[in-house]
Amino acid sequence: MDITCWNCKTVTKLDKFAVEAAIASMDASKLGFHDIVCSSCGKSNRTARDLFVAGLQAFAVVEPEMTKREATLKTKEENAKRRGDDDKKERAKVKEAIKKAKK
Ligand SMILES: [Zn+2]
Repeated sequence: MDITCWNCKTVTKLDKFAVEAAIASMDASKLGFHDIVCSSCGKSNRTARDLFVAGLQAFAVVEPEMTKREATLKTKEENAKRRGDDDKKERAKVKEAIKKAKK
């Protein structure tokens, strides 16, 4: 998750472990916020617990959702291909039937 510094607008990127550490620290301190110190100007960026929780959830869902979307796309492609093949077979059958009927 990204923390944008209120003072100098530098974006501090927190990885999943940093977010987990922040939540663990709030659990320990029983506080509803955590200060992220800006790497550029050194100011504390007070960040609400809810934002960390939401950030952690974002980490959790990003990867499986990508794979799921890719899987859905692949299935759709395969289904379309299969349907296309079936259509061709169906058309061939119809042609065959017409030929037979003409004879
Ligand atoms: Zn800053």
